[in-house]
Parts: sequence; C-alpha cells; structure tokens
Amino acid sequence: MQLTVIGCWGAYPKVNEASTGYLLEYDGFRLLIDCGSAVLSKLQQFVKPTMIDACIISHYHTDHIADIGVLQHALMIDSIITGSEKQLPIYGHTLDAGEFAKLTYKQYTQGVAYSEGRESNIGPFTVSFLRTNHPVPCYAMRFEAGGKVLIFTADSAYQDSFIRFAKDADLLLSECNFYEDMDGENAGHMNSRDVGTIAKKANVKQTVLTHLPQFRDVETLVKEVKKYYNGPVQLAKLGLQIDV
Ligand SMILES: [Zn+2]
Repeated sequence: MQLTVIGCWGAYPKVNEASTGYLLEYDGFRLLIDCGSAVLSKLQQFVKPTMIDACIISHYHTDHIADIGVLQHALMIDSIITGSEKQLPIYGHTLDAGEFAKLTYKQYTQGVAYSEGRESNIGPFTVSFLRTNHPVPCYAMRFEAGGKVLIFTADSAYQDSFIRFAKDADLLLSECNFYEDMDGENAGHMNSRDVGTIAKKANVKQTVLTHLPQFRDVETLVKEVKKYYNGPVQLAKLGLQIDV
C-alpha cells in the first residue's frame, strides 16, 4: 500500500494546505480517505479527481467532508465534457441519515453504507471499523491489502479498544490534536501521550501523527510521543508518501 498525505490539519487548513485527506493506493486502485477543506485542490497535485476509484468518510464533521460537494462537481463536469459514465462510490456510516444522503449526487456519486462488525471490500482493500469516542458518530478504520495493515484512528479521545484494533499494524495513522499537557478528552481528541501509549501497547511498526493542532510547534508532538513509544514517529504533511 502507498499512503499519500493530502491534508493533515485538524479543524481547518493552514494557509495553502488542507484539512483531513489521504490517498491510499494499492494495485492501481485509488481510495480517498476523508475529503476535508481544500483536499480537492491539493489532491490534484497527485491525481485527477476522476482517477479516484472510491472515497470513504470517517464522520461528518466539516474538516473531514468539506470538499465532498466540490468533488461531486468535478465528476459532474468531467462527465458532461467527456461523456464518462463513471460513478464514484463514497462509503460512509448511516448513523446520520441526512449526511449519509449527501454522499449520493445524481448519477455521479453513490453513498455506500459501512458498519462496525462487518468488513467492507473496497477494491483490493479489506476494511474494518471501530466506533471512536467523538462528539458525533465516527469510525476508525483498518485497511488490509497485500498482507499489510494500516490503521487510521480518525477522530477520537483515547480508548483502550484502539490497542487491540491496531495490534501489530504496519502503520498507525493517528490523530494527535493536543500536546501532552493538554486534556483532549472533552473535545473527543487525543494528546501525544495517548497516541504514544496506543502505539507502544499495540506494538505498531511505525506511527504518523495527523489531525494536527494549529498552535505551538507541532514537532514537539513527535518528541512527546517518543517518550512512550520506541518505534519511528513522524508528522503527516502535505505530500508525504509512505510505502507500507
Ligand atoms: Zn471530528
């Protein structure tokens, strides 16, 4: 699997960057994970919107879905110009029926339900889900392809269930929205100690920190995670590519 970071900022994007969005590729299949603010713009540094084979949404907070509408516009305009009949599946949960319905747009995109306890087969990826601890329903995801495993925590406060969910994963892509001296629980987010604890106890092979805060020096997060976890840790950033 190859992961490309399209956007890594929590809440809203920094100047000339994007909030949450990742491109996961395997065997020629391209899956867009979350589609936050400015993701459509930054995505085009790597692929055309029409080259995406599927999209999956962790939850319906704006910093994860802001660009769904413009993605749909891009596909519609391509279809009008080229005559393409391609329909993009957008996977999401159905615990918010109104938001799930917006994943379907005319004949250009089709909302597809996923749920915890049931694996989804999306192209070459086998995807399973874990409900997170967040103010709105949100799901962490486990992507498996080619014998490798990538875990995306999505948005969540700390919960022990991440340790089993992420056990021995090749890559942990974890939100890290707060510094060690801050308590993220009320906001439904993790601090660097939470992430380091999960990474160590789950014995993951490497960790990438994302959903980053706009305040202070984010390099501090890496140092703080390393107090708890001995494996490699780095910050997500626009254009970062990792082969898993
Ligand atoms: Zn959120």
